[in-house]
Amino acid sequence: MKSLTSSNLASSQDLEADETDVSLPEEERGGSDTDAQQKELIESEIGTTSALAESLDTSTTLKHAVESNHHESEIVRWVAPTADNSVSRNPEITINNFSRLATSDLQSWTEAGTSYINWWHSDITSFIWPIGDEVGGPNDLSHPFNRFQVTLGKDSIKNLKNAYTNWSDSAPCLTGEHPNFGGWQSRYELDEGKKLVLGWMESGADVATAPTPCFSSRAVTYAFPDESTIENGQHTYLHELYHALSSYLQDYCTNGGALDGDRFDKLRWVAEGTAHYFAYVVAAELNGTDDAIETMLRDAERGARGGETLSSAESAAAALRLMVERGDLLEEDIMGARIFETCSWPDNWQISIPSVSYAMNNWQEIESRSGKWVFKNSVLP
Ligand SMILES: [Zn+2]
Repeated sequence: MKSLTSSNLASSQDLEADETDVSLPEEERGGSDTDAQQKELIESEIGTTSALAESLDTSTTLKHAVESNHHESEIVRWVAPTADNSVSRNPEITINNFSRLATSDLQSWTEAGTSYINWWHSDITSFIWPIGDEVGGPNDLSHPFNRFQVTLGKDSIKNLKNAYTNWSDSAPCLTGEHPNFGGWQSRYELDEGKKLVLGWMESGADVATAPTPCFSSRAVTYAFPDESTIENGQHTYLHELYHALSSYLQDYCTNGGALDGDRFDKLRWVAEGTAHYFAYVVAAELNGTDDAIETMLRDAERGARGGETLSSAESAAAALRLMVERGDLLEEDIMGARIFETCSWPDNWQISIPSVSYAMNNWQEIESRSGKWVFKNSVLP
């Protein structure tokens, strides 16, 4: 088990005044997951931050300081939590399952996934419920997700919504139980997020996303379609779980969206590719197969033929795999979510870095050789 880091946030060094504080709207986006073309929300996924204090280049201010970012005296620098400066705690797993997936499976998938993570510190709470067939595009409640038939009975929906409400209302970073790292989280913001999720539950939205209200408390929310196989459900669940387990995605690095989010938005392919890569590998382990990479490359090749770009998670996973096979990236850094352990992670993924641009441009160089999907020799060293 990994420990959480709750350093004293006390320190009140001043923030460099060059940080801008344009308030970005909470951003949404759709990405297609292999199985169900699920859309996801970027804000809930791309997360946060930092490293040792001396190498901090993305500081997060306390919330009341956001409006007055240029008055140094009012600004407190966030010293990021790290595995080294934190108080130990054992993260908890809670499964709220209303679907035909077995709760014991969801539990073991979650345990298998968390066991890979180098610095696992946040509680994971899952909300899984069924939906029927697709009935149409997004409406006000389901946005940005498509609408499927609501198949859960009235009482069960009520219970599902209550479970989510209780979880959100007791977010430990607002109750004082755990630190509110960065201080950007507020009851207002959390309630807005809760409203969205409850609307999705009511409207049959085909949700697959990972809300992260607190650094120490994250969720997997997944509406499991009737048409989906258990295998696809497992893949999507593991994909979302990885987002939930990745420490420093967008919110925590941008002061809840107040700072430069563009830097992270541009690297969505890295966040999606790693989540997908993780899902292939953990699923193969759980299912006792050894075809993770082959399946990954098969899906990517199929996508490439269909005109997919790096913005699909399958393509992005293949790009990361190419880096691994070329010796430019360690698989354990993907699987352990090590690459997301500091807010400066985007520095390592700039297109100006030759190994990165090579993978971005050559991920589709896949062929079938003796019945196996592999990268062409021409792109391997
Ligand atoms: Zn994703």
